[in-house]
Amino acid sequence: MSVTDAVHGSVEARRWEAPEALRQADPELADLLAAEAERRSESLQLLAGENLTSPAVLAALSGPLIDKYAEGYPGRRHHAGCALADAAELLAIDRAKRLFAADHANVQPRSATSAMLATYAALLKPGDVVLAMSLEHGGHLSCGSRANFSGRWFDFIGYGVREQDSLIDLDQVRELAKLHRPKAIIAGGISYPRHIDWEAFREIADEVDAYLIASAAQITGLVAGGMAPSPVPYADVTVAATHKLLRGPRGGMLLCTAELAERVDRAVFPFSQGGAAMNEVAGKAVALAEAATPEFGVYLRRAVDGARSLAGALERAGARPLTGGTDTHLVTADVSPLGVTGVEAERRCSAAGLMLGKCALPYDPAPASESSGIRLGTGAVASQGMGAEELREVGELIGRLLSGGVDARIGERVRELARAFAGR
Ligand SMILES: *Cc1c(COP(=O)(O)O)cnc(C)c1O
Repeated sequence: MSVTDAVHGSVEARRWEAPEALRQADPELADLLAAEAERRSESLQLLAGENLTSPAVLAALSGPLIDKYAEGYPGRRHHAGCALADAAELLAIDRAKRLFAADHANVQPRSATSAMLATYAALLKPGDVVLAMSLEHGGHLSCGSRANFSGRWFDFIGYGVREQDSLIDLDQVRELAKLHRPKAIIAGGISYPRHIDWEAFREIADEVDAYLIASAAQITGLVAGGMAPSPVPYADVTVAATHKLLRGPRGGMLLCTAELAERVDRAVFPFSQGGAAMNEVAGKAVALAEAATPEFGVYLRRAVDGARSLAGALERAGARPLTGGTDTHLVTADVSPLGVTGVEAERRCSAAGLMLGKCALPYDPAPASESSGIRLGTGAVASQGMGAEELREVGELIGRLLSGGVDARIGERVRELARAFAGR
């Protein structure tokens, strides 16, 4: 099956019907899942981290490796009967190394956050100073939130974006690095819509003798498809996500230099995890193979072109896309010029079937509970076949919702679009 078929098929999977065994054993949950499938098929998923998992990946996820215990690594397992699990993991590792031109890959982290935890464990000691994008400016909570292990165990210093253009201020990064002498610098975040200058971060890290960690979960798929500059040649460790744009199983992945391979592996198992979820490892192998096909590039192109046209339409409607646009699948926009908060924008849009996220902006004057922005991603709708033209219309619909308020015709048009692209 080609990936084009896989994309068709992944949309088929959204018209989900509970298998007989599940309906028999647990009608309550079966109904709940059917209703969720229905909800998804009637709305457009514009949440930045969501996508449609391909049917080949889904098949691997529910395949026989789901029952295999395989603590350790290929050739070094603590359990019997691991030869085929080893082969599956080696496939995933080899494909990851090839796709990202990495010396070493660890495909066992259960999420990007647990991959971050392992990275810290590999490189740092509790109390070390780490320089990362501040949470208010788009850093992930694993980059220093007090509610997360990172903020409790390490001493985080935050850099940010410039107020006038919302771009990362590399002069500030350098200044803070020289002042605080961090043990590691983290480049990357969750809502930054522009390409990151990994080479410049590497230079700064070298100037202060710090490790460079690339927090690249949001853009892993773009890097895989050559649509965003790769951090791999510059970062000591790259933290990746296999869901999001890569369309694989929900999970994390670490790419690193040969020199750090052993430390990274030990930091994942046994330091921060037990046995790997071998069905997820198998699903990652499939996703990594699909990401190497030309069809995957076509889908990424639609995601990026779509995000650009979405940003343009939002701007024409009176919102203010941060950085003036996007290089990626992400759009972060200030909706305060339209007289609504981020919370209100999310509420109106989701009532009309447009699923997007409220987002606190850098220098946001509104309290975090209200926030002034929205964040959108085009991965899922690009997988359904939408591109620049459709996302221009989606941007116009959002603009109408935010400036004019509720209009039943908008929700109707969203459902029409969702149905029209359900079969692509
Ligand atoms: C999505 C994301 C995460 C969190 O991923 P999980 O798998 O939900 O833990 C962390 N960092 C960045 C940059 C992300 O984009």
